[in-house]
This record gives sequence, structure tokens and C-alpha cells, in this order.
Amino acid sequence: MTTPRTELEGSIAAKGLALGSARVVYSAKIDVETEPLPSAGIPNEVKRFEGALKTARAELASLSERVSGALARDLSEIIDAHAMILDDPEFTDTVVALIRKEQLRATAALKRQRDLLAEAFDAIDDPYLRARRDDLDHVVSRVYAALARGGAEPERKPSAEGQILVCDTVAPAELAQLAETGLRGLVCTASSPYSHTAIVARGLRLPFACGVKHALAVVHEGDIILLDADHGRIVVRPDNIDQTRFRTLQKEAERLRRQRARVKVTDARTRDGVSIKLHVNAENPDVIAAARRAGADGVGLFRTEFLFMKRRELPSEDEQFRAYRDAIVAMAGRPVTLRTLDLGADKAIGGPLEMALEENPALGLRGIRHSLAHRDIFTAQLRAMLRASAYGPMRILLPMVSSVEEVREARALIELCSDEVRRARHPVADEIPLGAMIEVPAAALVSADIARHADFLAIGSNDLAQYVLAADRNNAAVAANYDPLHPAFLRLLFLVFDNARQAKRPISVCGEIAGDPYYTPLLLALGLCEFSMHPSALADVREMLATLSRKSLKARAPRLLHAPDRAALAEIVSSMATA
Ligand code: PEP
Ligand code: MG
Repeated sequence: MTTPRTELEGSIAAKGLALGSARVVYSAKIDVETEPLPSAGIPNEVKRFEGALKTARAELASLSERVSGALARDLSEIIDAHAMILDDPEFTDTVVALIRKEQLRATAALKRQRDLLAEAFDAIDDPYLRARRDDLDHVVSRVYAALARGGAEPERKPSAEGQILVCDTVAPAELAQLAETGLRGLVCTASSPYSHTAIVARGLRLPFACGVKHALAVVHEGDIILLDADHGRIVVRPDNIDQTRFRTLQKEAERLRRQRARVKVTDARTRDGVSIKLHVNAENPDVIAAARRAGADGVGLFRTEFLFMKRRELPSEDEQFRAYRDAIVAMAGRPVTLRTLDLGADKAIGGPLEMALEENPALGLRGIRHSLAHRDIFTAQLRAMLRASAYGPMRILLPMVSSVEEVREARALIELCSDEVRRARHPVADEIPLGAMIEVPAAALVSADIARHADFLAIGSNDLAQYVLAADRNNAAVAANYDPLHPAFLRLLFLVFDNARQAKRPISVCGEIAGDPYYTPLLLALGLCEFSMHPSALADVREMLATLSRKSLKARAPRLLHAPDRAALAEIVSSMATA
């Protein structure tokens, strides 16, 4: 009997279409050696474990040598985190002690220690530690694999040519390796569009649907899969009609891609001729180069955290100055918005800053709160930014603002630092606009007052949605609750836009919705003229804008305010797509 065609649904983590055969990977189970270890065998068993650690370290080192380009930055952070676990005595010494004192075989000792640490991670329910637990599992699997091979060369992973990986989750580094051998797409039962794996998949342009709950129960090794990650749809064992339809979609996508490649990048305009600024969000300097190539009008959000991660000492003022100056010079006269440090919560990934372990880091000492509590770090960053301001148009943006006082305090510090920098004979631009991110509900509610103290506002919709809706942006279990089409979120956006308009302050949106064409009509209706997004989203949003009339969208905006639920909002938004 042949197994029937099945359709599955999930969330969109990296857009794209793929057709391939399934490569099914179940979560690694550790086969523990249970036979007793005689005393005479202890030294050898310890040696065996240490050999496996050495192999795992060497594998990580060779992995970081092999990846290059923009992807390397995303990955090296994760590889470093894994290397740190391998070097952590709390992990390794305890396994050795278990072998010596309890006479456990290496695999049994490894599993015992892994279970203990995992239990400790599970007891504290916060996203940062959950992510560390994933890291722990990835590292344990690597050491376990080395033990199981017993010193033999790692089996070369069979090529993933033409395959779509189906699994619970996959470590970002493994995904990059598989992509090198021709993987076409990824379907995960867990994970989230905000995970590191999703970021890497987007960088690799690898279609990825996550949260596809029953994928492992339904898909068998070798099954043909159609992955439509533009819509989060998967057809398992498709029939001929599916395959024909899919090939048509693929051809159309390819035609659009070629057409785009031929089109000269022009200014973004609506159908009725309103000029819209399209800026980019940059996590690192490589994105700045991509932004220039993609014709961005500026950098709407330069996330400066990259300078503070994966290292043991804080970056010096000079090093920061060079990084900011290079970005400003590369943008050749287009404005660069430098966001001050936003470490904390899910961004507290390794580095020289001793971030306290907080019970609830998303509500903790992050963003501007951290900067105001660590003046020396903050003022060094401000001085570096002020020095860079002499090289081109630049703005300073404060993350996680929740009160007027924070903006006032930051402005006073900027003035102090300006005096210092000028006294040290460094030129500083006369005008450096200071902006506040509106990403905390309190800031949204008092945005009229914040607008009087700030020169511009930038809505961080990723965080604003998670705080308004009480839904962790990284947690797949509440993905349905994290819904920008919730009337509460929309009404709050409305308020912030209105306040910015009345205070005559420029306003941008730099969360993920700004780069998703689905939300383009809605944001345009609210009066948005400045969008900031990943460079890969620029072409889609530019194209969408060209089909829309701002005048008729604005006329429909009040209806958004009164929509009672998601369904009503979705209906208005779809009708807007043809306005
Ligand atoms: C946001 O919260 O929407 C934002 C742009 O900032 P980040 O994603 O860096 O928190
Ligand atoms: Mg944010």
C-alpha cells in the first residue's frame, strides 16, 4: 500500500521554494555503555573521554575555518559558545570524576552529567538559558559521536544534494555544513523564525519552515517533499498536479528574480508618487556593503552588539570609532543610525560583559538601562560615535527606552562627551539627531512626551509586540500569540504614529514587519515614510510600494483602529493590498 499525500503547515522562517527528497533525522539518542568498568580500565576510559573532547574541539576549529563571509560572523559566535562549554571544567571535570569515582563508562558519565545540567537549565524558565541548553545538547552530541567512533575519522556526512532536512531542530553550524553539500530546504517540528538557525537559513537563502508539528510522524526518509516556505506549506508525497503547480511557482519566482536583477535600483515610490525611504538593519559591517549594493537610502538600525560579543575584553573607544567611521564612510553620505549597546535578554551571548543572571532577562537590565548603569562603557561608546560623526551624516538611537528621564539623561551624557571629545581636538558634527526606540509599551504610551525630548522615533516592533502581547519572540509555543495583527498592537502603533505626527518628529519602523510586504499597505496607511529592514527584503518591499496608492490607503486607516479582532484586521489588510 502506498502512503498517501499529506499537507502540513508551519511558520515561515526563511522564504523560498524547494522540491527535494526527505532526509529525516530524529533527535540524537545516546546509547550508553552500561557494562561495569573494572578499576584497571579507569585510566584508559579517562583517556578515551579526553580524546573525544580533543576531537570535538578540533572539529569546531576546522568548522570555523571553513565558513567565510557574512555567515561566518553569525556562526562563529555559536561555535565559540560551544567551544566554551568544551573548555568548562564544570562540564569536563565532573565527567572525569564520574568515571574515576563511580567507575562509569565515558558515555554513561557524559549522559549523567548532561542530564544533570539539562535539569538545572529546565528548572529556570528563561529563553537565554533555554538557548544554552540547546548548545549543551549540541556539544554533548558531538563528544558522544567522537566516543562512539573510537578515534576513527568522522564519517563524512553523506551529501545532502537535492534533499530537504526534516528534524526537530538543527544546530546552525550543521545547517551551514549541509547547505555546502547541496541541501535544498529545512523543515523543523520545533524552532522559531527568531532562532539562530533561522537567521543562518535566511543568510544561506535556504527555504525553512519551522513549528511543523507532525513532520517527523508523517515524513519518511526519501519521501518527496514540496516546501513552500513563502507560505509555510509543505506537501509530503505530492501528486502530479502538485508537482506541476509547484514547478510553475518556481518558474515564476525565477522569472521575477531575473527581472529584478535587470531592473536598475530606483528610489522607492508609491503608485501615486510618494517617495518612501528604505533603510537597512545591519548586525555587522558586511551588511553595510550589501546595503549599498541593494540601493538602501541609509542604515536605519546599526546593531552595535557585534563589537561586544565573542571576545574577552571590551572593545576600546578607538576600535569602536573605526567600526562606526567605516560604516559611515561606506554609506557615502546616506545617514547611518548607530544604536547604542542593546545587550541583555536573548542578546546576552558570551563576551566581556559580566551580565548578571537574571530571573527574567527580557524584563531586566538591558538596552539603555544597562548603559545608564555602566557609565564607563556607555560614555566610551558615545565618544566613539561622536568622533565618527565627523565623517558623514549619523544619528544616535537609544534602545529599550521606557521613560522620558532616560532620554534626558542620555542627552546630557552626549553633551558631556561632546565637550570632552572636542577638547581632545577631535571634530564632532554640529547636529547629531538623538532618537528613542519605541519598543516598550510604557514608551509607546508616553511617546508624545518622548517625542518632545528626542529628535526622531524608531519603532522596534519585534520587542514591542512581545511586550504588548506577553509572548516571547523566541518561543515557538507562543508563536500564535505573537501576532502583529492583534488589535491591541495595532492600536498602540496608531497612537505612536499619531504622537510622532503631532510632535513633527520623523518616525521609522525597524522590526521584522517593516521588511514583510504583507504589512507594507498597513504601515503605509498609518503614515510610515521610513522603513528599515534586512537588505534581502528591500526589493520585495520596493515592489509592493510601487503597486499601492498612499492616498487611498490613508483614507482606510481609521477602519484599522476599530477592527475588533484578527480576522477583521486581516480582511482590511488584504483589501488594502489592492488599494
Ligand atoms: C526590535 O525590537 O524590533 C528591534 C528592531 O530591535 P532588536 O530586534 O535588535 O531587539
Ligand atoms: Mg528590540
